[in-house]
Amino acid sequence: MSRAPLRVVLAGAGHAHLHVLRRARTLRAAGVEPLLVAPPVFHYSGLATAVLSGALAPDRARLDVAAYAAGCGVPHIPGEVTGVDLGARRLRLSDGRELGYEAVSFNVGSVTPVPEDPGAGDIAGEGGTWPVKPLDRLAALRRRVEDLVREGGASPALVVAGGGPTGFEVAAALAGLCERRGVRPDIRLLRRSQPDWAPPAALARLTSALQERGIVMVDGEAVGRSDGACRLADGRALPCDLLVLATGLKAPPDVSGLGLPVSAEGRLLVGPTLQSTGDPAVFAAGDCAVIAGAPRPAAGVFGVRAAPVLAGNLAALGSGRRMQGYAPQARWLSILDLGDGTGLALRGRAWSLGRGALALKRRLDLGFMARLKATSGEVLQD
Ligand SMILES: Cc1cc2nc3c(=O)[nH]c(=O)nc-3n(C[C@H](O)[C@H](O)[C@H](O)COP(=O)(O)OP(=O)(O)OC[C@H]3O[C@@H](n4cnc5c(N)ncnc54)[C@H](O)[C@@H]3O)c2cc1C
Repeated sequence: MSRAPLRVVLAGAGHAHLHVLRRARTLRAAGVEPLLVAPPVFHYSGLATAVLSGALAPDRARLDVAAYAAGCGVPHIPGEVTGVDLGARRLRLSDGRELGYEAVSFNVGSVTPVPEDPGAGDIAGEGGTWPVKPLDRLAALRRRVEDLVREGGASPALVVAGGGPTGFEVAAALAGLCERRGVRPDIRLLRRSQPDWAPPAALARLTSALQERGIVMVDGEAVGRSDGACRLADGRALPCDLLVLATGLKAPPDVSGLGLPVSAEGRLLVGPTLQSTGDPAVFAAGDCAVIAGAPRPAAGVFGVRAAPVLAGNLAALGSGRRMQGYAPQARWLSILDLGDGTGLALRGRAWSLGRGALALKRRLDLGFMARLKATSGEVLQD
């Protein structure tokens, strides 16, 4: 007598799960029935700053998740997983439903932490403060900046908090947006410490390129925003109509609060098979997970590379085959879109700044989206 298929719930349509969904037939042949719980739209980070800078229409970076899941033949419940009863193997969903599982896999990305210090003024308030994640907010931020440029005939005073690659890229994208709308950018990039995420020569070249475009580098930490000013920890204030927070990424609370072992950023600690070190029925990949002993920064590439191993290991649950191990690579290519037709490419200690870097990034990112949209059946608009 054949046994009932194992229900594997895929929480989140992140990079890894978008691949796993395509392997639905293989999973079913192995005796595994996949089910997706995810919000209706996936926002692709590789093109997020191109949307913010006005280089691309927001649709280019969006995927219709329901259509994609349908194209893969996988049932989709629109919404989020909001809680897990690990003992009973049941999920709570944002629509109030409960769902049993034999295994659950998380690929739910990351969030920008927003300070909740009561002394922080309205830093966490709506309107003037814009965390870079969730990514759909960047299209809204673009509209807000465009409105302010139209109303004032000049760039609003923009402060980007965060000296990491995302802070630099977002500041450059905002500069690109101002330039496209014909005004000189009024942007301050606030750095809590000296950046060290790229070779010093690359950082020096990037910094001077951004300074030439009107971006002012400021050392300090934002602690509040009110009355058109951003207050810094040392008491200074910067003119600030909009404060953009690019202050690092953490795992979403739905994942960090599961009661399973997590890293300092709340990412689920997983072994090489991508199973939680605290519960083998829980898998995780991408930003919300970290391989114990092999930490990597948040980047889409790790979810993409983990995906075939994740798909194979979920199938192994049904087939009984041995699971494979995933070892994240030590060097990877990342390319920042600088919003003016140029990019900064980094791989290990090698780097290149110019038009060629951005052309490569666009080819890779638009190709990635075109393949996804071929499955969802969406028509690309130019
Ligand atoms: C401005 C910006 C630009 C970036 N540019 C790049 C870049 O060019 N290249 C790069 O490699 N990285 C880039 N990153 C980093 C990148 O965002 C992440 O590393 C990458 O998106 C992580 O992929 P993921 O598959 O883990 O999750 P994501 O791509 O974030 O996908 C997770 C999905 O899960 C859904 N979800 C969230 N919570 C739940 C829940 N509880 N239940 C169900 N679904 C849920 C989300 O809606 C989302 O669709 C950028 C980040 C930012 C902020």
